Amino acid sequence: MLDLAIIGGGPAGLTAGLYATRGGLDNVTMFELGLPGGQIITSSEIENYPGQKEVVTGMALMEEWPEQCKQFGLKHEMNEVTKVTKEGDIFTITTADKKTQEARAVLLATGSVPRRAGFKGEDALFGKGVSTCATCDGFFYKGKEVSVIGGGDTAIEEAIYLAKMCKKVYLVHRRDTYRAAPSTIAHMKALENLEEVTNHDIEEVYGDAMGVVGLKVKSKITGEIRDLPTPGVFVFVGRDVLNTSLKQDDGTFLCATNKAGEIVVDLGMRTNVPGLYAAGDVRIEASKQVVCAAGDGSTAAINIIEYLG
Ligand code: FAD
Ligand code: NAP
Repeated sequence: MLDLAIIGGGPAGLTAGLYATRGGLDNVTMFELGLPGGQIITSSEIENYPGQKEVVTGMALMEEWPEQCKQFGLKHEMNEVTKVTKEGDIFTITTADKKTQEARAVLLATGSVPRRAGFKGEDALFGKGVSTCATCDGFFYKGKEVSVIGGGDTAIEEAIYLAKMCKKVYLVHRRDTYRAAPSTIAHMKALENLEEVTNHDIEEVYGDAMGVVGLKVKSKITGEIRDLPTPGVFVFVGRDVLNTSLKQDDGTFLCATNKAGEIVVDLGMRTNVPGLYAAGDVRIEASKQVVCAAGDGSTAAINIIEYLG
């Protein structure tokens, strides 16, 4: 019987693991389906993590976190949790290999995944020129032209990163104002090899057997179609939370969620189900920052220790 099962090994899950084990819980397992570190390991540059003055990659920022947790006894299982149920006071965790484990408390820290924009050709050419990760795939377009879609922090930061290695970046956005931080926008506007294509919708991404050949965009003002002959198309149009493991056989969720599927929690990261907590990007009103996810993880762990007595 686990004291605590942590689902997800991003900043929220890892920090919860650190606080829970260091705070005295003996039997804590963190389930992570991939490499620990979370979505930030796909980021090219972090400059807003407190105490980290130098700009670092996401991978570098997260490198030491799992090791620090292990020192205090956090167990890590590389596995996907497919289902969480509760009977009486005990939770049952089912993993992708169909094994089950019992736990007295559960923390959901499963974060989010990149959203698809939904334009023609996007799914068919995904992985063949359409990408949601500039640090993973940018290198393939060294010296070539690429398109970046979106107007948030992710799109603009990753467009800046791609502009360092690509011949030209087209930043395609459906409006003419951006959601990103002002300093990021200023940085982007100063780039000579980046062209803003604002007030444009995506018509389609098209390709051949080798992959993407280009992108067709349509002006929302003139209706004119423009062809951007870029073999790389990077889509950064937001993210969807990952909550599927809480789905029960009857289709309901184990705890309360909002319309977007985000987990409803109080300030202590407690859900409406005793012993079930949620932290980081997966919860309602998350600020979607590494430091906030880490803060949530520590808050949850402190309250879980109190809950378990
Ligand atoms: P995540 O980091 O998403 O971690 C969740 C983890 O859970 C993942 O590792 C996933 O594999 C795992 N998981 C999911 N489902 C399961 C399951 N069923 N079973 C087992 N494991 C599961 N924030 C900043 O503060 N500064 C930045 O500069 C910044 N830049 C960013 C750049 C990019 C490109 C992106 C995508 C995000 C950026 N962010 C930045 C946001 C930041 O990364 C997130 O807010 C933060 O990672 C959220 O942490 P989390 O632990 O809640 O979730
Ligand atoms: P986001 O802020 O939700 O931005 C998504 C962008 O994609 C918006 O500009 C949106 O346009 C556009 N978009 C959405 N659906 C679209 C579609 N179907 N077709 C075309 N465009 C579409 O998402 P994000 O940039 O991934 O950021 C997510 C969160 O993580 C934010 O809270 C962000 O601040 C945070 N984050 C922070 C940092 C940092 O601190 N440095 C870095 C990355 C992310 P509209 O603007 O018209 O809606």
